[in-house]
Amino acid sequence: MINSSAFSFDDIQVAHQRISPYIQRTPVLTSTTANQHTGAKLFFKCENFQGTGAFKFRGACNALLQFTPEQKARGVVTFSSGNHAQAIAKAAQQFGMRAVIVMPKDAPAIKVAATRGYGGEVVLYDRYTEDREEIGRQLAQNQGLTLIPPYDHPHVMAGQGTSAKELIEEVGELDYLLVPLGGGGLLSGCATAAKALNPHCQVIGIEPEAGNDGQRSFRTGSIVHIETPNTIADGAQTQHLGNHTFPVIQKYVDDVLTVSDAQLVDAMKFFASRMKIMVEPTGCLGAALALSGQIGGQNNGQNKLTNQRVGIIVSGGNIDLTRFATLVQ
Ligand SMILES: *Cc1c(COP(=O)(O)O)cnc(C)c1O
Repeated sequence: MINSSAFSFDDIQVAHQRISPYIQRTPVLTSTTANQHTGAKLFFKCENFQGTGAFKFRGACNALLQFTPEQKARGVVTFSSGNHAQAIAKAAQQFGMRAVIVMPKDAPAIKVAATRGYGGEVVLYDRYTEDREEIGRQLAQNQGLTLIPPYDHPHVMAGQGTSAKELIEEVGELDYLLVPLGGGGLLSGCATAAKALNPHCQVIGIEPEAGNDGQRSFRTGSIVHIETPNTIADGAQTQHLGNHTFPVIQKYVDDVLTVSDAQLVDAMKFFASRMKIMVEPTGCLGAALALSGQIGGQNNGQNKLTNQRVGIIVSGGNIDLTRFATLVQ
């Protein structure tokens, strides 16, 4: 049985041992320009270099590696149009199991193709008339598949937390850790790791302005549901936090802040032109906040990041070139 109230740093340590042979230990990059611009020391943990191009591969590996032989023989099912789909398909292929992925009919062809390219069996649904979670549950029941959702599962959360663990182990203590927030798998795992290794580190989740359900949930103390938000940050278009992720976020996260799509585009341009890396809009949430100098406003004319050591999870780099060009031009 899975039990999120027992979720702890131990789960992340064990996850890290379990998945290390399969994942990339992603690089931590720095930028003199960004440091000068913000007055801080920024450490970018580049999950755009993770297998399948996003941190989601960590959680997918950690979940699938815990399947029993019987579960493994039957396979996995999930619902996602994005990075979790590719992560589950690739991990399943690598561990020799079947993967069924429920995706919307109007998902970008490139994402459907990528998922199929990793051997995933894609089941299409109509996102206006059908419920993907229900379809996922039906497939699980009828075909004996195990459902691994994109964020609301302790094994997924533990896998995602290994990115913050690697970052802090590599660069040492941080004053702030900035983490993109969708459904909260990444934030709950990273906050748990950060507070265990570095208790004074302020952990901040960052959402797109148009979809600030996580901020509202964090501030009101109960999970707020919204319509699919209109934002270029497609990895953070979730409608609500999870039943497993929310309590962990409440326990360990210090604040949830937002950035605009225009700020995300500025950060994409910064990454491409200054750091020579391609980062998808959702992957820019943390950097967009840091570069905008918005954390807690001004302090004696200095922003709060002045002289602070700031870790930033750059969560993914999956965006097709035409879309990238359109956004940055
Ligand atoms: C999924 C995703 C997120 C959000 O992660 P959650 O665990 O849902 O909060 C952020 N960035 C990228 C690139 C993603 O794919």
